[in-house]
Formats: sequence, structure tokens, C-alpha cells
Amino acid sequence: MKMFARSAAIAVMAAWSVSSAFAAEPTSYQFEKVADGVYFGKPNMPGRMDCNVMVVVGDKDVLLMDGGTEKDSAQKLLADVKTLTDKPVRYVVNSHFHFDHAGGNEGFGADVKIITSEYSAKRLSGNPYAGITFQRFFGASGTQPQALATMKADLAKETDAAKKADMQARIKGIEEQMAVLKTAKARTGDIVVKDKYIIPRAAGEIQVLYMGRAHTGGDLTVYLPKEGIVATGDYMQNGLAYMGDSYLEEWPKTLEALKGLKFDLVIGGHGPSFHGTTKIVAYQGYLREFAKQAAAMKKQGVSADDASKRMDLSAFKGEFPQAATGAPLPGVIRYYEILDGKDTP
Ligand SMILES: [Zn+2]
Repeated sequence: MKMFARSAAIAVMAAWSVSSAFAAEPTSYQFEKVADGVYFGKPNMPGRMDCNVMVVVGDKDVLLMDGGTEKDSAQKLLADVKTLTDKPVRYVVNSHFHFDHAGGNEGFGADVKIITSEYSAKRLSGNPYAGITFQRFFGASGTQPQALATMKADLAKETDAAKKADMQARIKGIEEQMAVLKTAKARTGDIVVKDKYIIPRAAGEIQVLYMGRAHTGGDLTVYLPKEGIVATGDYMQNGLAYMGDSYLEEWPKTLEALKGLKFDLVIGGHGPSFHGTTKIVAYQGYLREFAKQAAAMKKQGVSADDASKRMDLSAFKGEFPQAATGAPLPGVIRYYEILDGKDTP
């Protein structure tokens, strides 16, 4: 796949050199052409947390599915999109309100319209950085500061020059991102999607759909019916999604609605893309089994912490290797909340 992305990038460069003397290679995202005017962009920024993007070149302008984790990644993305097309970015869809998907909003100008779900609009009007999810990753004892401390300790012991350079690049990336996030400001939606928003396009329309609660209270899908492509943010990824803000009982139903669309390629919010519905069916099974086991544990008075260690979802490790051991704690905590009647995380 890396090979394909590289050759696609070269092909794009070649096409561009005809029309522009200033075409460059993307520096922060690796693009794979998945249809005419449609690109799957994977972040290529060592150490940082960033999300996948989909770039759809329209008749006069460009739509992005997710706009990066903070204003720096948004600006890097804008620069990289210029290596694909000279049309301006006009729309940025937020797959959901999580900072690593909607934090880039503030990096776009007022001429760029942010498209969100009703729920995301509400969350982004408040302070999403105060929420538990951001704190779990970037709070004082979050995973990113911890990873940074570990990397720095490992760097001091490393003697191999190449490995040292690689570690230094990752340390630099994470430090830069942490610095930008210190002053991050949420920007909410300009266009709020209730259930469906259509952007016409001569090559085939772009549909932005809300099909139910899942990974969060408001996940959007970008659907290209003619190309048979869906971009699903975090509610359907190649791997297991974070579940700390999720609606576990509704999630498989939302996936059922997704399966009702006609598509082959699925671009999730993180990790590689995939084809078909086999993985989606497996994920529905995983989520239902997760709910069943967690509910049984709660009924027995088992703490969320212990339940996450005792639950066994290894039956799903074929499609999801991470399912081999236990169940992620944020998902168990969140489902316990739901069972206690706490609808909003
Ligand atoms: Zn998310």
C-alpha cells in the first residue's frame, strides 16, 4: 500500500508539473488516490496524534472529511492539498467532536465552512478540551505526556544513531503538538447536519449523513454513492475505536444503517482503509458482546476496572487483533455510566 501511495503521489506530481511550476510533494500527509478526484490521506507526522482525512475535489472547490487535530495540522493539510489540486478548500466535515478530528477547525479561514452534526455543534460550542477524553490523552497524566517521558528516558539510553534520530523526531512532534494544544480554541459548525446534507458535484454528489449515535452522540459519514466510498470517522475503523464517549447499545444499529448504503471502500478515522462489510459485521458482534459481558459484570457488582481485565472478547481477534486481551477500560466505564442512566458523558 505504501508503494501504491508513492506511485500515486508521483503520478499526481507528473500531472501537476504541466499546470504548475510550484507543485511539491506533500510533507505531512501521504495521499492515496482512491477514485477520480478522491484521495485518502494518512497523517505522516512522527510522534503526534492525528487523524485520517479524505479529500474530495468538487467542481469549484474541495471538501475535507476531518481537518486535523489542531490548527498546525490543519495548516499542514491545506498546504498538502495544494499538491493535489489548485481548487480552494471550501468545506471541512467534522466526523465527530473529538479534538483529534475537530481541533483543526480553528486553523481554517472564515471562507471555509465547517460541517458538523447537531451533537458535535453543541459540544464544540462548549469547551471540548475540558472533557474526559482530551484529559485522558493530553491531561497532566494523559497518555501523550506519559509517552513523552518514556521516549525521553529511552533516548538517553539509546546508542544507535539512526534510532536516536527517529526518537528525536517523535519527541519533537509530540512536544510541538502539546504546545499548540495549550492555546487551542474550539470552533463550532457553520453548517449543522440533522440527517442529510448534499453537496452537488458533476462527477457524483457528496452526501453528508447522520445515521445515529455510535462512537459519540453525533458521528457523521461522508458518502460518495457513485464511487462507492464511505468515510466513517471513528465509529468504523480498521481497528477497535476508543469508546469513552460512546453509545454502546445504539452503535451496532448505526452500523446497520451504514451497511444499508452501497459502497466498497471504507476510510475510517485512523488506520488503514478496508473493503466490504465483513469487518463491519464483526464489529457489530464485538460491540454487542462487549455490552453483554459488561452488563453481566456490573450485575455481579464487579468494578469497571476489574471487569475490563476479566472480559474476554478474544473471539474477535481475527478482525481486531487488539481484542486478544481484556476490554478497554474507558469503554467499560462509559457503558457502566449508560447502565446507570447517565446519557451524556
Ligand atoms: Zn474519536
